[in-house]
Amino acid sequence: MQQITDGLRRFRREAFPPRAALFADLAVRHRPGTLFVGCSDSRVVPELITQSEPGELFVVRTAGNLVPPHPAGPDGIAASIEYAVGVLGVSDVVVCGHSGCGAMTALVTGEGLDRLPSVAAWLRHGAGVAAEADPGAADAPVEDRVAAVVRANVVTQLDRLRTHPVVAEALDRRALTLHGWVYDIASGAVEAYDRGTGRFAPLPC
Ligand SMILES: [Zn+2]
Repeated sequence: MQQITDGLRRFRREAFPPRAALFADLAVRHRPGTLFVGCSDSRVVPELITQSEPGELFVVRTAGNLVPPHPAGPDGIAASIEYAVGVLGVSDVVVCGHSGCGAMTALVTGEGLDRLPSVAAWLRHGAGVAAEADPGAADAPVEDRVAAVVRANVVTQLDRLRTHPVVAEALDRRALTLHGWVYDIASGAVEAYDRGTGRFAPLPC
C-alpha cells in the first residue's frame, strides 16, 4: 500500500500540475471518444497501451473481457455500455483480449474453478467460445489453445455487444465502429480483427 500512497503523492506533485488545465476542463466536460472493454488483468493498462490522456477512454474491465449478452438483468457492464454509447456518444468501441489471459486459460483447462464458484459462474459467458475454438485439441500446447480461445473470445464479445440495443442502434446510424484487439504482454504488439477476412493481423507500429 505504501507504493500506492507514494504514487498518489507523486501524481499530485508531478503529473497533475502539467495537466491542470485539462483537469479543470474535464471537471465540467466528459466526452470520451472510445469505450474500451478490456480484461481486469493488471498487466493490460488501457491508457498506457493507447497512450491516452484522462477523459479520452471510457473503460470497462471484466475478467476475460467478457460482455454478457443483452438482456442480462441488472448489470453494471450493460449499464456502462448503455451510458458510454447512448449518452456520451462514443464513436468507437474496442474489445481487447490479451496473451496469457487467466480467464481464458481457466476456460481451456478447467483447473481451479471448483474453488471459485463466482469465477466459474462468470466464465459461462465465454464457455461456448472455448468449446468452439478449442474442439478437443487437448494434445496441443496449452499456450496455443489459450491463444486461439483469446482470439475467438474477442470476436464473440463483439457479437455480444451488437445484442445491446443502444449499440445496434448506433451501428445502424453508422455512428459507431467496433474493433477487436489482442494485446501481447511480452512485446506490446496489438493484433486487430478484420471482419472481412475473419482474421487478426498486426496493427502497424
Ligand atoms: Zn485476462
